Amino acid sequence: MAFESLAERLQGTMDRMKGRGKVNEDDVKDMMREVRLALLEADVNFKVVKQFVKDVRERAVGQEVMESLTPGQQVIKVVNEELTKLMGGEQVKINTASRPPTVVMMVGLQGAGKTTTTGKLALHLRKKHNRKPLMAAADIYRPAAIDQLETLGKQLDMPVFSMGNQVNPVEIATKAVEQAKEDNHDYVIVDTAGRLHVDDNLMDELDQIKAAVNPDEVLLVVDAMTGQDAVNVAETFHERLGITGIVMTKLDGDTRGGAAISVKAVTGQPIKFAGMGEKTDALEPFHPERMASRILGMGDMLTLIEKAQSSVDEEKAKELERKMRTNELTFDDFLEQLSQVKSMGPLDEVLKMMPGANKMKGMKNLQVDDKQIAHIEAIVRSMTKAERDDPSLLNASRKRRIAKGSGRNIQEVNRLIKQFEDMKKMMKQMSGMQKGKKKGGGMK
Ligand code: GDP
Repeated sequence: MAFESLAERLQGTMDRMKGRGKVNEDDVKDMMREVRLALLEADVNFKVVKQFVKDVRERAVGQEVMESLTPGQQVIKVVNEELTKLMGGEQVKINTASRPPTVVMMVGLQGAGKTTTTGKLALHLRKKHNRKPLMAAADIYRPAAIDQLETLGKQLDMPVFSMGNQVNPVEIATKAVEQAKEDNHDYVIVDTAGRLHVDDNLMDELDQIKAAVNPDEVLLVVDAMTGQDAVNVAETFHERLGITGIVMTKLDGDTRGGAAISVKAVTGQPIKFAGMGEKTDALEPFHPERMASRILGMGDMLTLIEKAQSSVDEEKAKELERKMRTNELTFDDFLEQLSQVKSMGPLDEVLKMMPGANKMKGMKNLQVDDKQIAHIEAIVRSMTKAERDDPSLLNASRKRRIAKGSGRNIQEVNRLIKQFEDMKKMMKQMSGMQKGKKKGGGMK
């Protein structure tokens, strides 16, 4: 998977920062040195790296760190936001013509994945957007290109417009658009010829096709495995032809990923799709924020941090901590905790966002039932205020009443009370261990 070394490198630095109260300038400097090296190693354009490091440093130095977050996380958050911005910020959708058919011209070097992506895109449009695309075979030079597209067409049950390899590609593209209008196709995807290197003949031909069919989208297909070359190719194509978007292929491979990070910054054009495999369904809309999280190897930790920031009340958290320490925790506090966790979203979703959760044994199949939380709430709410404060008041007859009042059975009520007592004991032990230690944040 792409970006592994970058992810590892950053994680190492973050780990070293764990437990600090505040991010100071030296910490940020240390981290940014690693970030800079990691990005360069991943083949990110050096100008892009320079600007990136500058932006992150400015934002990260001297930041107030929320007490429930570790400073390392806070810096990751900035790195992540800036990475996202670098890759274009928002997901950018494929252009659609105000009047169909939308004409999409696929361009790129030979072997980048143009023909494969033409098929993938047609399938994506049909499957995800309920569209009716026509694929057009305008690569008359690569011997097998037309056959390849026709085979794809059969496999996907998708129409292919072809005139063989003896007709000028400009004419093929023009006729394909006419055909699409006639047959009410709402997209025409024109697979054009590539070359091994950018050359003038190729660019001239693409220019002519572009002038003839006036495409709504010129998608450049680049191979992520080629690193900096992909960025140079993109720059040249954009200068000569004017592209409107990029498809980054082979991101499933063992690429260092730098191309995906720098190509938007260098060309100003967004990556719209990512090719994640050879199969026809291995095309994904490119989401900069998700890619950034993946680069940082953090699942959707960022979403989680944001959710925690918006749902944890600092004052209440402090009060809770005090109560845990002094063993005054009540069932009301317990409910309060539950509702805070709940406000972050369905529990199993929250757990999935934790970094490494998918690697942890047993986590994969963990099912957290939100209904269970509702049951717990029902039981606790059936207690009196005095009982919630002091569960030792709960005798057998009261437990039976509570079971009845909450619609749960007596075993469940007993189990909850037992769990609560166990939890209190455990918290007491934990806060005993923490005593004397410097306060270091950490997710609550
Ligand atoms: P073209 O010359 O640009 O039309 O390139 P092709 O569509 O023929 O693709 C060249 C090779 O790259 C083929 O073997 C494809 O299966 C492979 N390929 C294309 N996209 C991807 C991708 O996203 N991931 C992987 N692993 N292989 C891809």
